[in-house]
Amino acid sequence: MVVTEPDNPPYQQQSMLLVPTDTPGVEIVRNVGLSYESENDDHGTHAYIRYNDVRIPKENLLGPRGGGFVVAQTRLGGGRIHHAMRTSGRVQRIFDMMCERAISRTTQGELLSKKQMVQEMIADSWIEMEMFRLLVLRTAWRIDRYNDYKFVRKDISAVKAAMPGVYRNIASRALQIHGSLGASWEMPFGKEVIESFHMGLADGPTEVHKVQVARRVLDSYVPCDDLFPTGHLPKRRAAAEAKYADVLERHLQTH
Ligand SMILES: Cc1cc2nc3c(=O)[nH]c(=O)nc-3n(C[C@H](O)[C@H](O)[C@H](O)COP(=O)(O)OP(=O)(O)OC[C@H]3O[C@@H](n4cnc5c(N)ncnc54)[C@H](O)[C@@H]3O)c2cc1C
Repeated sequence: MVVTEPDNPPYQQQSMLLVPTDTPGVEIVRNVGLSYESENDDHGTHAYIRYNDVRIPKENLLGPRGGGFVVAQTRLGGGRIHHAMRTSGRVQRIFDMMCERAISRTTQGELLSKKQMVQEMIADSWIEMEMFRLLVLRTAWRIDRYNDYKFVRKDISAVKAAMPGVYRNIASRALQIHGSLGASWEMPFGKEVIESFHMGLADGPTEVHKVQVARRVLDSYVPCDDLFPTGHLPKRRAAAEAKYADVLERHLQTH
């Protein structure tokens, strides 16, 4: 994605181009992996790339000139809900491992599942997992219903912002419940914890999505021009007394 129209408004300056890696001038400086991947295994999946006077045919333009931002946001809307759906499945898998361990491992005279702090971890995890899954389902339903990523961007940002926290909490608790085994490379939890950070960074950091949610939510409210807010109790009482003055009057007369 490159700036091709510098004189356009900010969101219409970029264009999206497809550049095959065998195009002359494409230089893969080095691959970079996530922290649980090994440099020696050459697992890097994200590269620093330098484009040295690269030229590509016109047909490699995705969408119109200056339309790169729209192309990216359209694609990213679907990508974000996809991340959330995948995360929902991963979290279920981690949760199942946590529960199996809790009812299998005896330590200090009883099963882990009998210890109340372990029970709390299981209860909190189940509640977070189910709330998250329902939010993902609702968002997917709204995408299908309105077929307009722009219209549902608050919902998509909300699942994107909720995802890393739920994922990280449940992966961390699963690691803890498995004790030292959980922290070892013989279990997947360390990788899952790092992956939860990945979900909070890729396709926009959580903070940016929260800003998006807050903006869209606040759009539907109107300010109160009085010194006291609409919910101020004395004000509401006075309004109710004015509205039901007749009823109150009749009541006072008959009692
Ligand atoms: C595994 C992985 C895959 C990725 N894949 C892609 C990809 O396919 N395509 C792509 O374009 N990008 C991709 N990214 C990049 C990702 O979108 C960026 O890393 C992310 O948007 C943060 O940008 P940055 O790293 O430059 O951090 P910075 O912009 O330097 O931000 C650093 C931190 O500052 C905080 N911050 C940033 N902005 C705000 C704000 N407005 N308000 C409050 N706090 C803020 C956040 O905590 C943020 O993490 C990927 C990242 C990872 C880790």
